[in-house]
Amino acid sequence: MSSKEYIKQLKERIYEHVPKNIRVTNVEFEGPNLVIYVDNPQEFAESGDIVRKLAKDLRKRIKIRPNPKSLKPPEEAREIIKEIVPDEAQITDFFFDEENGEVIIEAEKPGIVIGKNGVTLREIMKAVGWSPRPVRTPPIKSKTIENVRNFLLTFKDERKDILKRIGERIHRGTIYEDKWVRVTFLGGSREVGRSCYLLQTPESKVLIDCGVNVGNIQQSPYLYVPEIQPLDSIDAVVVTHAHLDHCGLVPILFKYGYRGPVYLTSPTRDLMVLLQIDFIEVAGREGNPTAYDSQHVREALKHTITLDYGVVTDISPDIRLTFYNAGHILGSAIAHFHIGEGLYNIAFTGDFKFEKTRLFDRAQTHFPRLEALIIESTYGGHEDFQPSRKEAEERLIEIIKKTVERGGKVLIPTFAVGRSQEVMIALEEAMRNKVIEEVPVYLDGMIYEATAIHTAYPEYLNSDLRDLIFHHGINPFISENFIRVDSPSKRQDVIDDATPSVILATSGMLNGGPVMEYFRAFAGDERNTIVFVGYQAEGTLGRRIQKGWREVPMPSEGGKRDVVEVNLEVETVDGFSGHSDRRQLLNYVRALKQKPEKIMTIHGDENKCIELASAIYKTYRVETRAPLNLETVRFL
Ligand SMILES: [Zn+2]
Ligand SMILES: [Zn+2]
Repeated sequence: MSSKEYIKQLKERIYEHVPKNIRVTNVEFEGPNLVIYVDNPQEFAESGDIVRKLAKDLRKRIKIRPNPKSLKPPEEAREIIKEIVPDEAQITDFFFDEENGEVIIEAEKPGIVIGKNGVTLREIMKAVGWSPRPVRTPPIKSKTIENVRNFLLTFKDERKDILKRIGERIHRGTIYEDKWVRVTFLGGSREVGRSCYLLQTPESKVLIDCGVNVGNIQQSPYLYVPEIQPLDSIDAVVVTHAHLDHCGLVPILFKYGYRGPVYLTSPTRDLMVLLQIDFIEVAGREGNPTAYDSQHVREALKHTITLDYGVVTDISPDIRLTFYNAGHILGSAIAHFHIGEGLYNIAFTGDFKFEKTRLFDRAQTHFPRLEALIIESTYGGHEDFQPSRKEAEERLIEIIKKTVERGGKVLIPTFAVGRSQEVMIALEEAMRNKVIEEVPVYLDGMIYEATAIHTAYPEYLNSDLRDLIFHHGINPFISENFIRVDSPSKRQDVIDDATPSVILATSGMLNGGPVMEYFRAFAGDERNTIVFVGYQAEGTLGRRIQKGWREVPMPSEGGKRDVVEVNLEVETVDGFSGHSDRRQLLNYVRALKQKPEKIMTIHGDENKCIELASAIYKTYRVETRAPLNLETVRFL
């Protein structure tokens, strides 16, 4: 059945369900959603649980939207809303999301925008047609989020066409009698970097992640293999999280002809754009240009479809995707695929943490069903036991104390996203409780902006942190000790200043970014300390320093290299990692509600992947394997 006939059939069934007083003006697929346009969405909402019944009967995600003609123009709507909402709500911004017929109202007191039992919301909707969504004004404004929103608004017509095309493709219907499921490992197997996996059935092709190799950015996943050529034969790209080893090459897919959807969570979308743009800029400055440019980042952004955790979504005729919390960084997800009608279930953990951290709850273990698991192995080696988060924090605080006492500076190279915020929260608490002396903590690189994005998505943080922010009025992200460094001159001031301080700077593995300048300036002085809190991949400068090299080659002006002497103290504090350690990896497999039949280990140095596969087999008697890049494994 073609998608046109299918829509016709769905329309008839929708009319059967909908009460006579509601006028349906149009029914369309938009991406994975079935959108029903009505003249009076409010009455639709009030007439019981039709939406739920429809969703259940049609097995589709249903969205009710007001007929675009019934919406007041944004300028006018803004004034009307300001009149309706009492001043004490302190509205700070509006954002009209035409795609969803929603107006996001940012206010210091969103409760007042809602009104008693939602009375104010209903009044707004009646007056302007848009459905209002009040959110708390984030304490730090994110330039990225603003840019992403404005960009999507500018391209809303084009995006509508894109979503319509994607929707029709998802609902094209199945063709083949054969049933099989296989995965081709295109990168990130027995290595960390360039993660990329192809999940394939006779009907569909889904690409999970498409990352760079952080140790060698010229090395891509094996995107030229026949399985995924032409690239437009891929139905969907799924991004587990925003780290560049998972999403850094998504734009290249668009450069070479892919025009399908990119599924991710909202924070992953914003962080991804931030990190990709930064990646292009940093690489360009260092004379090592990336294989794509900002135009391809924008093309990818046009094709993003955001999904919240736990929402089941059709992404192809026979595959449904659900994201679950992975506990690794903001918005990070375990991608669970339900294939066929109960035929097979396979989950990709992406990077995950099976321990509650300062920011996130531990990774999800309960899936409705699970036959196969593709699990990361970064710390899967038999000696990879990490101290607890508490011990790690105590050790870091001790190192900072010692360095500050001898008048030195502490340099902490971090990823902009994840470790930075974990370290910031630990430092803020230690200074607030006077465990260490208050010294300036400089944030350089994309750290400040990434932190702003964290404050915009409190629903993705764990409940303790939300509670601290909303009920105790303590927002650890905005301590006055945190100082943003956003220009070369400010950076020079920090370097020249003789007093002790802590510097968090990107990149986390010293393969570029502002951390390089700090390291060059601080390396010679033995009062200073460099502290590694994250994973250092083979081939990076970070790994060499960590191994104890006393002289390291560093890129210098004009593409040359020179040798820098390393006299500063070199420390590694394990336990801050956003990855599960060996114990947590094994505990995770034990904690799974349903024991999978097959487990593949990926995303780790060769021996880690092999050792984890062997440990899981010995402990749980599950078939395991550490596949090689370019291998294809058949699951069904
Ligand atoms: Zn990661
Ligand atoms: Zn990773």
